[in-house]
Amino acid sequence: MIYDHIMVRFGELSTKGKNKTDFIRTLAKNIKNALADYSEIQVITQYDHIYVKLNGLEPEGIIEILQDVSGIHSLSLVLKTDPDIENLKNISLEMVKAEEGKTFKVHAKRANKKYPIISDQINREIAGHILRNTDLKVDVHNPDILVSVEIREEGAYMFTHTYPAAGGYPLGVGGKTMLMLSGGIDSPVAAYLLMKRGIRIECVHFASPPYTNAGVIEKLKDLLGKLNKYQPEIRLNIIPFTKIQEDIYKYCDESYAITIMRRMMFRIAERMARRRRCLAISTGESVGQVASQTLDSMQVINEVTRMPVIRPVVCYDKEDIIKLARKIDTFEISIRPFEDCCTIFAPKNPKTKPDYKKCLEFEEKWDWESEINEAVKNAEVIYINKNSSLF
Ligand code: ATP
Ligand code: MG
Repeated sequence: MIYDHIMVRFGELSTKGKNKTDFIRTLAKNIKNALADYSEIQVITQYDHIYVKLNGLEPEGIIEILQDVSGIHSLSLVLKTDPDIENLKNISLEMVKAEEGKTFKVHAKRANKKYPIISDQINREIAGHILRNTDLKVDVHNPDILVSVEIREEGAYMFTHTYPAAGGYPLGVGGKTMLMLSGGIDSPVAAYLLMKRGIRIECVHFASPPYTNAGVIEKLKDLLGKLNKYQPEIRLNIIPFTKIQEDIYKYCDESYAITIMRRMMFRIAERMARRRRCLAISTGESVGQVASQTLDSMQVINEVTRMPVIRPVVCYDKEDIIKLARKIDTFEISIRPFEDCCTIFAPKNPKTKPDYKKCLEFEEKWDWESEINEAVKNAEVIYINKNSSLF
């Protein structure tokens, strides 16, 4: 194995000024956490770049882990070496010999402008050496082997393989949101999209025992266990919702039950969000999917909060959401049968265009405020960690 580092690349977009420093520091920390099981590894921040020093470890599993760390756009397996041109020529030859293919191209980048040879000349010298010593031909448009050389102040980095990664922003640079997690297909996908954007999540779940199955909590733990890959620790707040739900059915017209129930959920989510210093509420809602997710409904429901509500999958087709759910491995867990409070209490004819004033009239009928206070007070907290399966 001639390679000794993994070069980590991130997008240029958000990387300016103080943001850039935060971005790089947070990303380096997240990389260290993701690779915590490999004690030999060193994470090195050099100017604007992050390198993972392998210290003799095989890179395959490590690259796979890094591909899921948000904020990384691509990775290359590199050799850090002396930038002397004769050395570069010899190593390039060794590298192409280890690869399969009939054609090649050399791509040199001279980031250190003090280096005496310009990029074009580096390309020529290395290519000439490879042509003289192998049967390979040059193909500048579609080469089988691309030999890249980056000359930096601390040395030269050479590589032939680049791997795509998750993209997005490092987890934590975007603040925290309170995600309403139901146990269905959509909300875990929403969680993944948020985390990819650098936003940390905390979850709130509304449970209505005995109407809803206690197995739901196991299901949520399993879902969050999958999401631990992107956020190593997730806090789940379980809200006892039975009393509120029963009273909704007692005091409101059945066709308004879902609308009022969701207004209560958002009120509680906002309370939890403020308490836990979250900057927004997030959901797995997708417009048009069901009665409570028409724009008319969303507007009447959203009216109870002034917090931003982020709905990452709002315009996604169900098939696209399912594709993502399969990618993050939550789909099979989400489709396990269980009774959701929405399905159990689902009215026969829910309003697709609920009237805002009517909602207020129903909500005049009982003291739901103190029920909300009670529910928030009795929230049960569970932490789901990357290593919780060990306990
Ligand atoms: P999902 O697949 O995420 O369950 P869904 O298509 O079943 O979504 P709804 O059941 O109407 O749609 O829920 C829409 C969103 O409301 C969910 O994505 C979730 O964010 C939130 N939600 C619904 N029920 C609950 C619950 N019991 N606890 C917490 N959040 C919930
Ligand atoms: Mg649901």
